[in-house]
Amino acid sequence: MKEFWKVIKRYVRPYVQYVGGSFLLNILSAVFNIFSFTLLIPILNILFSLDRKVYSFIEWGADGYGFKDILLNNVYWFVSEYMGLHGAGRTLLVLCLALVALTFVKTFCYFASSAVMVPIRTGIIRDIRSDIYNKIISLPIGFFTQERKGDIIARMSGDVSEVETSITGSIDMLVKNPILIIFYIGTLFFISWQLTLFVLVFVPVVIWIMSIIGRKLKAKSTEAQELWSDTMSQVEETLGGLRIIKAFLAEGKMAARFRKITNEYRRRTGRVNVRQVLAHPVSEFMGTAMIAIVMWVGGTIILGGKSPIDAPTFIFYMVMLYSVIQPIKDFSRAAYGIPKGLASMERIDKILGAENPITEKADPIRIKEFNTSISFRGVDFSYNESKKVLHSIDLEIPKGKTIAIVGASGAGKSTIADLIPRFYDVNAGKVMIDGTDVRDLCISDLRSLMGNVNQEAILFNDTIFNNIAFGVEDATLEQVEAAAKIANAHEFIMEKPLGYQENIGDRGSKLSGGQRQRISIARAILKNPPILILDEATASLDTESERLVQEALDRLMSSRTTIAIAHRLSTIKNADEIIVLDEGRIVERGRHEQLIELGGHYKKLYEMQTL
Ligand code: ADP
Repeated sequence: MKEFWKVIKRYVRPYVQYVGGSFLLNILSAVFNIFSFTLLIPILNILFSLDRKVYSFIEWGADGYGFKDILLNNVYWFVSEYMGLHGAGRTLLVLCLALVALTFVKTFCYFASSAVMVPIRTGIIRDIRSDIYNKIISLPIGFFTQERKGDIIARMSGDVSEVETSITGSIDMLVKNPILIIFYIGTLFFISWQLTLFVLVFVPVVIWIMSIIGRKLKAKSTEAQELWSDTMSQVEETLGGLRIIKAFLAEGKMAARFRKITNEYRRRTGRVNVRQVLAHPVSEFMGTAMIAIVMWVGGTIILGGKSPIDAPTFIFYMVMLYSVIQPIKDFSRAAYGIPKGLASMERIDKILGAENPITEKADPIRIKEFNTSISFRGVDFSYNESKKVLHSIDLEIPKGKTIAIVGASGAGKSTIADLIPRFYDVNAGKVMIDGTDVRDLCISDLRSLMGNVNQEAILFNDTIFNNIAFGVEDATLEQVEAAAKIANAHEFIMEKPLGYQENIGDRGSKLSGGQRQRISIARAILKNPPILILDEATASLDTESERLVQEALDRLMSSRTTIAIAHRLSTIKNADEIIVLDEGRIVERGRHEQLIELGGHYKKLYEMQTL
């Protein structure tokens, strides 16, 4: 329960005024409910002509009478007076109309009290989703492996909905039901405290049974949600790999794999749900058992003729008792729902609480331009303890030069490029820009100096215009067009029916590989960064698009400092320095001709490609 209050405190604060409104409306609803049912007493009296006593008005506050006695007496007196004047039929009609009117007011209050809670429910869920999204954006790239992506999607969809139904759904019940319960039980005491004390003996038993089932539920539902994460991971993986799945005719295999996990999920959630549906019947049964026992006990007393209350008041008592059962039931439903929701909240908090190892210093150094060089000094790096990926890398990239990094796949080329914008931090040594350690710089300043073009162009499901203008605020159409022209992209864009306003589909799927690449080059051109990182930018293209893209790249690279990771050595022949990497170590460096002459790793790589 403590965890629950923590969650509530964290998310309900901006919405307290709604809780206040609901509180008031619920009190009104409870009061009107009690008064509407009070009318049952005179109605029953009239119908069954039970009451033959002659009432006379008692002064409010008269000595020798309790408030309750005076109240009841005066109400009876008023009704009998009215009956004497207008007849029983008319009195009955008036009472029934009053019942309808009071019930209308009561149900309206009831509705309004739930309606004012709606902004809280929807607001909290929006806040949680935004929190997760903002967290995702702030976490470093290294946080997101394939498995984690599906897991995060699962948490964002499944767990957040779970919190929505169970926790925020419970807030309403937690405001409403205690008020109803307190007012109704108060009324019960008012009518007959002896009978009510007897009733209250049952309550602890009910709560005890509910809490046992609730605790079991939380454990089971955590297991189930973990499986839901695995399910989403598979969906994410499948969407990304659909091309390969079809090419390798692996549909059946993938479907079977998916079936296995959904079956397991079904089995686990099945158990959770069975326990959950137990809540209603258990409380229903216990409620009715309680009513029956009270009916028997109370009825026996009345039949014995020593009862402090008459038969119509007893019926009213039973009605109030019955009314108290529903809120208790709802309360117990919340008691079942909350553990399930808390299990989900815990999973959400795992993301929200994830630590970001890439942090900015308290007073970071601001940097607006790039002046002299990028340098690596004795840099060691590993993704995890098991294997060192870079070994004491020393590298100097002077302003305006193009440095190419080559080597077998897995040698650590991309890793070197990722260290400069601080996508990861080094384990030893340092990376510097103009002589300042990148860890001392303001991260946004550092990254604004760089433009990336990757092997797989990373585009968004949006218009061509917005994709090119992605990194620049308030870009004009002229600027975007100019960038597209330099990137050899303007022509094919103009052939699209909507031109720059054409939507390019999920990850740019409506464009060819070369077109996607030219859009991403245009994006880099528009950002106009002094440092350019090209990660195998032409590796996945055919010769014709490669020519167009290379042309665009050459224009982009001129007058910039470029780090080019290259697979095809033909594209980097003109680099000012070529760094040959082998298993995380620099093994050769120099210009193309020098390295060929050296006859080492580079020559071997080059010969393999020219063959
Ligand atoms: P290259 O770009 O030369 O192909 P990378 O720099 O991508 O090589 O990778 C170098 C090594 O680091 C490889 O052995 C690769 O398996 C490993 N590696 C790359 N990314 C990660 C990661 N996110 N987590 C763990 N290991 C990684």
